[in-house]
Amino acid sequence: MTTLEQVGEARLMIDGELRGSGSGAVFENVNPATEEVLGVVADATAADMDEAIAAARRAFDAEVWSTDLDLRLRCLRQLQTALEEEKELLRAELIAEVGAPIALTYGPQLESPLADSLLWPIGRAADYPWERRIADGRAFGKSKRIVAKVPVGVVGAIAPWNYPFEIALGKLGAALATGNTLILKPAPDTPWNATRIGRLIAERTDIPAGVVNVVTSSDHARGEQLVTDPRVDMISFTGSTATGRRIMAQGAASLKRLFLELGGKSAQIYLDDSDLESALAVAAFSVCAHAGQGCAMPTRMLLPRSRYDEGLEIVTQAFRDLKYGDPTDFDNLQGPQISRVQRDKILGMIEQGVAEGARLVLGGGRPAHLETGWYVEPTVFADVDNSMSIARDEIFGPVLSVIPFDDDEDAVRIANDSEYGLSGMVSSGDLDRALAVASRVRSGTMTVNGGQWYGADAPFGGFKASGVGRQNGDEGLEQYLETRTIGMPLD
Ligand code: NAD
Repeated sequence: MTTLEQVGEARLMIDGELRGSGSGAVFENVNPATEEVLGVVADATAADMDEAIAAARRAFDAEVWSTDLDLRLRCLRQLQTALEEEKELLRAELIAEVGAPIALTYGPQLESPLADSLLWPIGRAADYPWERRIADGRAFGKSKRIVAKVPVGVVGAIAPWNYPFEIALGKLGAALATGNTLILKPAPDTPWNATRIGRLIAERTDIPAGVVNVVTSSDHARGEQLVTDPRVDMISFTGSTATGRRIMAQGAASLKRLFLELGGKSAQIYLDDSDLESALAVAAFSVCAHAGQGCAMPTRMLLPRSRYDEGLEIVTQAFRDLKYGDPTDFDNLQGPQISRVQRDKILGMIEQGVAEGARLVLGGGRPAHLETGWYVEPTVFADVDNSMSIARDEIFGPVLSVIPFDDDEDAVRIANDSEYGLSGMVSSGDLDRALAVASRVRSGTMTVNGGQWYGADAPFGGFKASGVGRQNGDEGLEQYLETRTIGMPLD
């Protein structure tokens, strides 16, 4: 078993220096599975954040970082090597502070991003068309015209607690490869994976001082400070839709560039010719992995009315069989919720579902055998009407709402009857029919007959209230680029 051999990094990283908060204040990092305090981390003041912003601004305006691609790629490779060398410590840390099931650290919590979140942007930046010539201009005589892609500037990168390393590394890879400087502000619940990145950058790379700053705080106001400060050109935010809306409103005064990756309420649709037995085998995992704390989880299950009872029975059994509990146990794909507040919020939403008349088929409470830790039972609601709160609101817990539909048209209508549009799944015995339905669902990613879209080369993001912009792939790099068009005399 992996153990936390070393206590996490408690220091901020500002302008190349590892140091405590200006006030000396710290806050606790708590293990959500054991409720034990793991240790502390610096609680940055407004003045600390101000220094971090000033450092990032200076590093962008006065240094070669934004123009020297070779330097950037060399530094990112150094960071990749340093992270790989501390992989097992990162794994232990993610299990301890995030409550991430160890099995998921071999995938999206750690090893997947380690395999490509830096390496893909490094590779793509090396051959990206930074400049292109367009047709000669004809306004006021002939001109040669060049379109150049240049970095946006100073990026405020605000991360959530659910997949903190993956999300932070995704932002770092794209923003740094394209020549921006950045302030990373992790969520208060999961600070150590970010401060570890900060330490590795300071100690193990030639990334110039100020290019990356890591600022932890127990106060969301430090995030807000990034949003309102005019020296910050762009906010790259992953988190709740409510906070995304607030960022958009508050960023308006300084016309912030925004990348917002927000909530979801995605639908998994099983057409009436599906092999339900095999297609539903992954349903429990798709909703309960990491205790349902993922924005792209397909938490609405749409079953054809003609096969509703059969499907409900299979999925309920799958939820019943799902192993959950201690995140250090390889068999458990569901661990705890991140905090007592989140657990209680989820239990409240389940109560509301019952009050609105949905049929609670399985779970719905705290597991009797797990007294310590912030766990919620895998939960299945049947006979859900798409207008109920459990079908509309992002619960961010292991809770499935099963909804009947009449035909393909009806399935598309219900899937799209949502404020969100992040992801989704369609299953059918006929791939063309599944693709036809998938193409009508208004969402940023779709899994068709089990196919996976995930990867640093694959654009990911939301339609509607699920966000603005894309991370990953060329679209993800371009999120961090401005376009400059230059006219000059013909050669
Ligand atoms: P949140 O969106 O409020 O916090 C995410 C990050 O934003 C944190 O780093 C936080 O410090 C920062 N932040 C908070 N308020 C800010 C502000 N006004 N300006 C700038 N930054 C700010 O999420 P939360 O409060 O930790 O969780 C609440 C709910 O959000 C969850 O129940 C879940 O539904 C949702 N959530 C969604 C995602 C996702 O990936 N879609 C991730 C985490 C949480």
